[in-house]
Formats: sequence, C-alpha cells, structure tokens
Amino acid sequence: MKSVVVNGADGKMGKEVVNLILSKANSELVGVCDKKGVGKKIESTDLKIKDNLADILDNKEVDVVIDFTTPDSVMDNIRKVINKNINMIVGTTGITEDNLAEIKNILGNNKIIIAPNFALGAVLMMEFSKKAAKYMEDVEIIELHHDNKIDSPSGTSIRTAELISQNLNNQENDKQDYIENLPGARGASKDNINIHSVRLKGLLAHQQVIFGTEGQTLTLKHDSFDRSSFMPGVAMAVDKIDKVNGLVHGLENIL
Ligand code: NAP
Repeated sequence: MKSVVVNGADGKMGKEVVNLILSKANSELVGVCDKKGVGKKIESTDLKIKDNLADILDNKEVDVVIDFTTPDSVMDNIRKVINKNINMIVGTTGITEDNLAEIKNILGNNKIIIAPNFALGAVLMMEFSKKAAKYMEDVEIIELHHDNKIDSPSGTSIRTAELISQNLNNQENDKQDYIENLPGARGASKDNINIHSVRLKGLLAHQQVIFGTEGQTLTLKHDSFDRSSFMPGVAMAVDKIDKVNGLVHGLENIL
C-alpha cells in the first residue's frame, strides 16, 4: 500500500488525481495540500485541504507526493519533498533544463518522475514525431489549450521540440530571415523549431506537429478531450516510482 499526498488538490488536475488515488487499489490518500480551498473536506475521507506541504510531510508517513500546481511554485515544492526524502511525481509544467539539472544535483537517493504529459496518446505523438523527424526536414508545432492555462508554450510542445531536434538533420536555420509584421507572428522558438500557442474557451489540451518536405506535409495530431485522459499515466507512475532510477523525465521512459 502506497501512502500518497496530492499537492494542488483543489485544482482541476488535482481533483482528478485525488479521485484516482481514492479509487486505486494499493494506494491510500493520506494528505491533500493546496493554496486554495483550505479546510475543504475531501468526500468519503476525514482529510481536509491544508496549505503547508512541509507540515503534512512532517506529520504523516508518506511514500509519494503528486504535484499538479503552478509553474511558479513547482520547483519550491520539489525542493521541499526531496528535502524530506520522499519520492515524487510531477505533472506541473514549466520545468526548465536548468531546473532539471538542479533536481539531479539535489536528488540524492530519491526518485522523481516528471512528465509534461501523462496522456498515452500524447506520448505516442511525441515518439512518432521523433521518428518522422528523421525523414522530413521541416517542422512546426501548434499547441492549443483551454483559456485558463497560465503558461505558454505548453510543456508538451517544448518536450516534443526537444525530442524532434534529436533526430532533425536538415531543418534550415532560416527562421530569423522572416519579417514579422506583428511581433510573435512566427511563434516562439525551441531548438530552432517554431511553436505556436492557442488559448481558447472550449479547448482542453491539443497539439499538432506538422512536418513539411518537398511537395508534401505530414500532420500528427493529439487531442485530450477530458482530464481523465491523464489518469492512466499518473496511475502507472504511482505503480512504478519505486523501481525507477533517480530522475525520469517523460512518461515514455516508463512505458
Ligand atoms: P489549476 O486548476 O490552476 O490548479 C493548480 C492548483 O495548485 C491551484 O489550486 C493553485 O492554487 C494550487 N497551487 C499553486 N501553488 C501552490 C503551492 N505552492 N502549493 C499548493 N498548491 C498550489 O491548474 P491545473 O489545470 O490543475 O494544472 C496544474 C498543472 O498541471 C499546470 O502546470 C498544467 O499545465 C499541468 N498539467 C499537466 C498535465 C500533464 O499531463 N502533465 C496535464 C494537464 C495539466 P492558486 O490558484 O491559488 O494558485
């Protein structure tokens, strides 16, 4: 039985994760933390939302903390959890390469799984994109999310660009030659791959990766229509966290 604390438990993802842990065999919800909804009772339990993660970790036996909070607070949360020698699963986006280097440095014997996207279909889209990059030399990414998403571009699109760039041989470094009549018209750039972010009511989490080569394009497209799409990946991470080696970045590494 794994004792789990959910951080960001009153958020959109956190609420789903709380329900996942409550319904999951071999896991027990032992604490819930959020800046919002403090004092709110979690249905069918005696647990109430508290706002001090360190206090929760000091007062309970905890095997794993699952974090779905905000990009500006996630590193602080990670430092607190590692400091208490507890394993962690992180779905919060906004973690940079510098952050990953710091985590590796401070991790010690702890284990942490960080996944910008826990949806299996999105992970497959990233893997197929990496493969396509060997054969088609030009690519741009369009990521589309609900209008409440604070950060852009999405963690998934950044991770996709990183994976594609490992295989992309020929993408010409010509993006700076374009004239933008409105600043930002050509999107952001990660590893010389343009990323365009759309934020709209009615959307949840979607991405298109469009490859181009002479006379043809290939579009790989993934849609999450419901937050339940992320839960099998989170459940898998809970089951596998003990067995991973140190830091795992990307769900594809535990499939
Ligand atoms: P959300 O609804 O805004 O929920 C985040 C919650 O965390 C809010 O209640 C927020 O409170 C709280 N919070 C912020 N800082 C905190 C802290 N230091 N300690 C405790 N709680 C804190 O956002 P969401 O839609 O659930 O998304 C959460 C994160 O997951 C985002 O980064 C999002 O991009 C990411 N995400 C990842 C995946 C994936 O598969 N990896 C999928 C979907 C979303 P306040 O509102 O008061 O700040």
